[in-house]
Amino acid sequence: MALLEVRNLSVAYKTPLGIVHALEDVTFSIDRGESLAVVGESGSGKSTLALAVARLLPPNAAYANGSIIFDGLDLLNMSNDSVRKIRGTGIFMVFQEPATSLNPVFKIKDQLLEALKVRYEREGNSFDENRAIDEIMKVLRDVRMTDPELIIDRYPHQLSGGQIQRIMIAMGLLMRPKLYIADEPTSALDVTVQAQILKLLKDLKRDYGISILFITHDIVVASIIGDSIMVLYAGQLMELGTMKDIIYEPRHPYTQALLNSIPRVSKAEGKLPMIGGSVPNLMNPPTGCRFHPRCPNAKDVCSKVIPNLVRVGNVYVRCHLYGQ
Ligand code: ATP
Ligand code: SF4
Ligand code: MG
Repeated sequence: MALLEVRNLSVAYKTPLGIVHALEDVTFSIDRGESLAVVGESGSGKSTLALAVARLLPPNAAYANGSIIFDGLDLLNMSNDSVRKIRGTGIFMVFQEPATSLNPVFKIKDQLLEALKVRYEREGNSFDENRAIDEIMKVLRDVRMTDPELIIDRYPHQLSGGQIQRIMIAMGLLMRPKLYIADEPTSALDVTVQAQILKLLKDLKRDYGISILFITHDIVVASIIGDSIMVLYAGQLMELGTMKDIIYEPRHPYTQALLNSIPRVSKAEGKLPMIGGSVPNLMNPPTGCRFHPRCPNAKDVCSKVIPNLVRVGNVYVRCHLYGQ
């Protein structure tokens, strides 16, 4: 059985101007020890997906329909109390804006020690502060934190955004949850540190069988971290498959456009192929395939009928060009 099974998930938000249809009919699963990278432009619903899985949608979420089964538990229908128990050791999430995840009144050291206490308890080990501090210092060096011995004596407001991001990644590494959700965790960090952290996450997956749901707007980053890749566009799942299938044989016109927009020294005198048009307003999303206003392959039916998610070879594609 998969660790996480998400079926037909739709999420909408209430706003004073109307309902935002942020996710529509998203289905996927993640096996134990497997990583899934979710890629899409800004506003495609990536954070909404992560928050729904962590049961952390904001109060103005109008509904979350479908089902989310984590480790055999039906998350959408669980009480808040039961969900709280899963958080941390079952599911750990690094937020896109990580500053709010730390408690402002405790030093970094105390917050990391607390995280480790939870894990030691789960593993049935007694808590030994010296051993815990050694482990914390090692992880902080792993995430390339400069002066970790000074940093752990600080309060969150005394750290930069990049430092907080590293602390949150370190906390996740220390807790070793079953599912590690990371929402753009490396976007504020420079490229070398990003690469280092992606490697650390892959080690964690290999060494502890941790599953990873990794969110990024960068398909190159997705290809480094994801065993599988899911492409989201305007809240619709457009394509889902193994990293190799998605990167080397993309079927969906949007995935193809994403791959074509990767900056590279091209023959066309360094010109970057861009995706024309802009992301639609999800208060009034395009009918049919939400990508149709920007799709070079669009036909009549595309604006009228939502394509089904169909299996083509080993991948799932939502597009009228395939198997309808
Ligand atoms: P980004 O790459 O910019 O982080 P994203 O892919 O994470 O974008 P989401 O944050 O999930 O996208 O947003 C999806 C849609 O839902 C957007 O149209 C966004 O404006 C809207 N949205 C997100 N959060 C809320 C909220 N709390 N209330 C109302 N609308 C929201
Ligand atoms: Fe393009 Fe139509 Fe496929 Fe949507 S369904 S991606 S508009 S061809
Ligand atoms: Mg986001």
